[in-house]
Amino acid sequence: MNVPSVSCSGCGICVVVCPREALKLSFSAQGHLKPALNKNLCVDCGLCVRVCPFVDVPGEGEVVVSGFTTGLIGKYVKVGLAWSTDERVRFKSASGGAATSILKYLLEERIVDAVLAPRIWVKRGIVFGRYEVVYDPKEVVNYAGSIYAPVDITKALKEVLKERLHIALVGLPCQIRGLHRSFHYLPHLKDNIKIVLGLYCFNMPSSKAAGYAVKTLLKVNPRRSHV
Ligand SMILES: Cc1cc2nc3c(=O)[nH]c(=O)nc-3n(C[C@H](O)[C@H](O)[C@H](O)COP(=O)(O)OP(=O)(O)OC[C@H]3O[C@@H](n4cnc5c(N)ncnc54)[C@H](O)[C@@H]3O)c2cc1C
Ligand code: SF4
Ligand code: SF4
Repeated sequence: MNVPSVSCSGCGICVVVCPREALKLSFSAQGHLKPALNKNLCVDCGLCVRVCPFVDVPGEGEVVVSGFTTGLIGKYVKVGLAWSTDERVRFKSASGGAATSILKYLLEERIVDAVLAPRIWVKRGIVFGRYEVVYDPKEVVNYAGSIYAPVDITKALKEVLKERLHIALVGLPCQIRGLHRSFHYLPHLKDNIKIVLGLYCFNMPSSKAAGYAVKTLLKVNPRRSHV
């Protein structure tokens, strides 16, 4: 395991692919999720490094898109504007609710068995997100909105692998890049993930910074275990 800690966003994909369960995400002192290594279990196979979105492995995991390329947004096929026509979704969402409405539609139309989306948690002043497997389209609205704090995808992805669910997933660019790379090594994961919705992202803030901001700027004590 040789990913410079400073580059790691805590995407969790290395934890999911490790064949020996030698990695586990845990919070660093600075409030970031990082993989912790159990050296006794590691067999030095190098898989964790090969899937990491921040390690350059030429030609691996790149998605080939036929369409257009610009320096600003990379490769794309078509650009459009979208928002939810459901007022409740629009009100709860981050930027118009298109993501939530698409996930809801995929479940309603039974295009996928489940969707993977994170929910926000606050525990002892630490803000974080945890992915859950959502089966009921009526539940999807409870996951609307952006979590500007570390999010753990590992347990939910392992459940998808175990149950062989066909899913849609909403994620950040680092998670999606790592996932695409992992498809080389876990081909059944590729079969399970039918649709990926990628969010634009500027960086992964510390969970402590979010708690600090809630306390000092919003004057709210983040003690409730679930918001
Ligand atoms: C950390 C972060 C940084 C962002 N930075 C920018 C930015 O700089 N500029 C910009 O234009 N947009 C940014 N976005 C995207 C923006 O906040 C909205 O998520 C996006 O525009 C989609 O809006 P929506 O109303 O369609 O999403 P919604 O309908 O509100 O749905 C959002 C979906 O994303 C899921 N989600 C929320 N947080 C996370 C997370 N951390 N990781 C994975 N999934 C998550 C939710 O569970 C929900 O399913 C950022 C998002 C995140 C999470
Ligand atoms: S080198 Fe292999 S066994 Fe060791 S942590 Fe990475 S994926 Fe797991
Ligand atoms: S795969 Fe993700 S969690 Fe693992 S080292 Fe790379 S960025 Fe960090």
